[in-house]
Amino acid sequence: MSSIPILKAREAQIHTKGEKPFDMTCGKHSVAGSVSQRACVFCGSRVVLYPIADALHLIHGPIGCAAYTWDIRGALSSGPQLHRLSFSTDLRERDVIFGGEKKLEAALDELIDQYKPKAAFVYSTCIVGIIGDDVAAVCRKTQAKKGIPVLPVHSEGFKGTKKDGYKAACDALFKLVGKGSTEDVSPVSINILGEFNIGGEAWIIKEYYERMGVQVVSVMTGDGRVDEIGKSHGAALNVVQCSGALTFLAEMMKEEYGTPYIRVSYIGIDDMAKSLYDVAARFPDNPEIMERTRKIVREEVEAILPELNEIRKDLEGKKAAIYVGGAFKAFSLIKALNYLGMKVVLVGSQTGNKEDYKTLQEMCDDGTIILDDANPLELSKYIIEKDADLFIGGVKERPIAFKMGIGFCDHNHERKIPLAGFRGMLAFAREVHTSVTSPVWQFCPARLGNKEE
Ligand code: SF4
Repeated sequence: MSSIPILKAREAQIHTKGEKPFDMTCGKHSVAGSVSQRACVFCGSRVVLYPIADALHLIHGPIGCAAYTWDIRGALSSGPQLHRLSFSTDLRERDVIFGGEKKLEAALDELIDQYKPKAAFVYSTCIVGIIGDDVAAVCRKTQAKKGIPVLPVHSEGFKGTKKDGYKAACDALFKLVGKGSTEDVSPVSINILGEFNIGGEAWIIKEYYERMGVQVVSVMTGDGRVDEIGKSHGAALNVVQCSGALTFLAEMMKEEYGTPYIRVSYIGIDDMAKSLYDVAARFPDNPEIMERTRKIVREEVEAILPELNEIRKDLEGKKAAIYVGGAFKAFSLIKALNYLGMKVVLVGSQTGNKEDYKTLQEMCDDGTIILDDANPLELSKYIIEKDADLFIGGVKERPIAFKMGIGFCDHNHERKIPLAGFRGMLAFAREVHTSVTSPVWQFCPARLGNKEE
């Protein structure tokens, strides 16, 4: 298995730390034939916008594109549940020949009348880009008729990488910003950007900031609401999580409204605490905020430390592989795994940039494999060669882990428990511990095969 060859065209996107000077290629289109783990542009925009719970989300395209539903990425809402419904114009051969604009307009009219959303997002898919439907014109017409924002999302799947989908989503989101009154927005306030509330994380994080005495004007987009996004330009600071998804919006808001932003991560003890301290430091005129922050961090860490230390005893020396969407998440995961006594032997991402990969290789030990835009074969090869005990990834990485007969932790779409925040760190440690120490792996054919060799 270790003799599995790598495609020549992929070699520049794979680096083994310590083998040669670091120079990784990244940010390019996936290599044909490589069966990339990366999602399409449309998927990228959907990840960002779908958690807005009181908006209508209509996919203009064939029904297959709409298969990526709430069931796959179940962003939680504390109120409306409209985002859980997956609507599609279901374009057929006839529409491809004669155009789908009329069908789109009729679908929007019907859905807006029936569900009375606060806004509607219309996602363009590959075929719409090919046949050239004027989605923006249909949206403008419907907006004038129905009196709600109807926003085109220019997310034709083929036109770039998942990261271009983030940008398309931010362009649409930006059209909502600035539409509401900022009367009730405090000068001590923030927006949380890039937190999608898949397992309820947004609620945990929001509660920390509110306990500190900082108003959270909007969360974009976990448990998101159109009206809250509308007044988000009144916040004093944007707090951006994740590598790239909402950084585009933070940049646009900085340019248009002068809102500064900081980048944070809510994964692991160190990064979670830093996220709170960094926000507190932005309000030096209110020293009581920093005082409260210290108290929160102390209490939260004390509550989880004894169990974490117990878990660590079993995990000490185990080896982990990480493959995630954005590299920023990988930074925090490496720290969290190191805290649990584990060693990272493989780390990669779908959308990392040169700077991200440089940071990753600085954080890793010699011999660690660093991958950009990997495929299942490469991931399997290095999991075996590095003898990993755990794989952290998302829905597409799960079968790879199970076929290899190693533990798996879903840190993406399908998780049902929050893995962010201090409580999330404990949940993460429990999940990693349960999976890595499960007796089931000894019966897996891949593991049996290894032993027989
Ligand atoms: S690549 Fe194109 S056809 Fe496939 S899901 Fe994305 S938008 Fe749809």
